[in-house]
Amino acid sequence: MSAPIRPQPGILDIALYQGGQSALAGVAEPLKLSSNENPFGPSPAAVAAMAAALGDSHRYPSTDHGPLRAAIALAEGLDADRIICGVGSDEIIHFLCQAYAGPGQEVLHTEHGFAMYRISALAAGATPVEVPERERVVDVDAILARAGSDTALVFIANPANPTATFLPLDQITRLADGLPESCILVLDGAYAEFAPGYDGGAALVDRRANVVMTRTFSKAYGLGGLRVGYGYAPRAIIDVLNRIRGPFNLSGVALAGAEAAVGDRAWVAECLRVNASERARLVAGLRQLGLGCDESFANFVLARFADEAEALAADAHLKACGIIVRHPRSYGFAHALRITVGRAEDNDRVLAALTEFRGMA
Ligand SMILES: *Cc1c(COP(=O)(O)O)cnc(C)c1O
Repeated sequence: MSAPIRPQPGILDIALYQGGQSALAGVAEPLKLSSNENPFGPSPAAVAAMAAALGDSHRYPSTDHGPLRAAIALAEGLDADRIICGVGSDEIIHFLCQAYAGPGQEVLHTEHGFAMYRISALAAGATPVEVPERERVVDVDAILARAGSDTALVFIANPANPTATFLPLDQITRLADGLPESCILVLDGAYAEFAPGYDGGAALVDRRANVVMTRTFSKAYGLGGLRVGYGYAPRAIIDVLNRIRGPFNLSGVALAGAEAAVGDRAWVAECLRVNASERARLVAGLRQLGLGCDESFANFVLARFADEAEALAADAHLKACGIIVRHPRSYGFAHALRITVGRAEDNDRVLAALTEFRGMA
């Protein structure tokens, strides 16, 4: 008798990732505000570059992503030699766990943290550990109290998802300073562009041996479907991650699209400008309806209801109006809905539907 086939320990503890819903039965073109996508789509320059690259699809793509890394470095003021590109920033998160965490080691994430941290930790055989937040904000003292010699990685999204809250740079610096030197602090900057004046922690990465920043083209750049993200890290960490990166992890079309997108500064600036004014309007509108809503530093807002029943009823009403948002129950917010900031007319529809729901119409 042979031994049964079974996966590595931890794998079966992974719950499948729940993405934002994208279809509504009986609605031809629903308003999708469930995945924090850019409502204006990608830069036209990126679309043109991708179209132009299609004809070269018989060629293998670059293995070192040199032109894309140079374009990112130029736009963001980074050192191109300390950038690694991945299939979304999800792949960078995965590389970090695979390379630095394993059985007997802990990967810390916060109470309402992004699901991929736990998934990638378990995939690597490590133990994910959830640390409480304070009033929907990452709690530096709680993380410092929990981190120890077995802590390989600490993941923080700043601005955070699904709360849209922000931890000021002095707090992040205090966290980096207080962690054991053997522990890597990962600053997930998926929404960094949306926080005015925030560099995603890049300057902190430049100063320290144990801080890594991840960024993505999926949110501000409107390229979630293309799957491109990157990491910025000390040279020694980049060297390690490149050893486990597939040589052709990014397609030629993806490389061309991302390079053109990061070069079109005017497009992203205009998208960010509209997002900032529209999210302020959305937050004010939700508060006027008596809903709980923190200030947002991202491209979405978290609307808090009295309880889960009310959140579900609001979700059902929005769906009846053809609008899809996210019910972030798995993130500890059964009583809330996460709503992506859309175009002005989209946000008008959301506010009108919720006004009707609250009986204030
Ligand atoms: C959307 C998101 C990402 C981005 O994932 P990609 O793989 O780059 O598309 C990363 N972290 C958080 C917290 C996110 O919300």
